[in-house]
Amino acid sequence: MKRISILGSTGSIGTQTLDVVAMHPEEFEVDGLAAGNNTALLLEQVRRFKPRRVSVSTKERADEIRSSLPAGVELYSGSEGLVEIAAGGNADTVVTALVGSVGLQSTLAAIEAGRHIGLANKETLVTAGHLVTELAGRKGVKLLPVDSEHSAIFQCLNGENREDVASITITASGGSFRDYGREQLKDVTVEDALRHPNWSMGAKITIDSATMVNKGLEVIEAHHLFALPYEQINVLLHPESIIHSYVEFRDSSIIAQLGTPDMRVPIQYALTYPDRWQSPASRLSLAQVASLTFREMDYERYPALRMAIDCGIAGGTATTAFNAANEIAVARFLRGEIPFLRIEEIIDEVLQRHDNAANPNLEQIRLCDLASRELAATL
Ligand code: MG
Repeated sequence: MKRISILGSTGSIGTQTLDVVAMHPEEFEVDGLAAGNNTALLLEQVRRFKPRRVSVSTKERADEIRSSLPAGVELYSGSEGLVEIAAGGNADTVVTALVGSVGLQSTLAAIEAGRHIGLANKETLVTAGHLVTELAGRKGVKLLPVDSEHSAIFQCLNGENREDVASITITASGGSFRDYGREQLKDVTVEDALRHPNWSMGAKITIDSATMVNKGLEVIEAHHLFALPYEQINVLLHPESIIHSYVEFRDSSIIAQLGTPDMRVPIQYALTYPDRWQSPASRLSLAQVASLTFREMDYERYPALRMAIDCGIAGGTATTAFNAANEIAVARFLRGEIPFLRIEEIIDEVLQRHDNAANPNLEQIRLCDLASRELAATL
């Protein structure tokens, strides 16, 4: 029996994690679920998966659902509630499916409590990767990637000597506007941006895919997860999203992980590692796909990717500022406040004014995150 808790249970990764649980009801026990504001869906999940503990965004939300919860279910709220679901209870693995650096505190709490992490919240590593990986190493906690690219690389590295790795290559679909030139991006709408060609994902990550910020966050995530220098991390455009990423070894052999684009596969692998179980994903027929195509990444077309990698190389609080600026800019775009191309301009302007602090502690990261958000909100 595997006991799991999910931070962000009503989002895209959270609901797909529960799909995996539903496929193997005898094998999983859900200990805790933390949701934000979607209390209707949370209540449905509580009835179906019978967690012992739940948390919602605010005390008001908690009061709304208190009387609808089955007897004995513990109810929490706010950031303390997130920490309670992450670190209290008795889960073996905590799936961190929150969106944004808001997941940092609860992820650190889960690691501190010795829980393995099914890591979907990439912003946590982008914001404070050195602290998260250092704590995980000290606590003997596994950071199991849920992100499809990182799961792919993780799988390709199984049983290999790390010294033999020449490089890793993260593939990128190109996002919703991959066939547009820069000129055509001027007046794209939120609806256009939310139509991802291959993957079904939440709103923020779908916008991040369109700006290629997502790939930038993933490069930084890979740097921390696999302890690789940035020179050994490549990005390649691969519109079909069939090769989820690959590793090249020093003998020039390449090992890639392939499959139909279905997030439930990497989610499940993070929960069953090192075992593999039956999955609901459809089988890949290479004969049917017939051809796979690749293009060199175009950094002029996607300047935000360059910015992300430069921040990664700079280290310190640069990636924190990058991430915070992006989170606010994307939220503003989704609210219809700014045009699409303004997202990368805001990130750039925040970075221009950013004063980088090397090897920051948690408090410096928190302050940098806050200041970058405030600035991005006013630009
Ligand atoms: Mg990904």
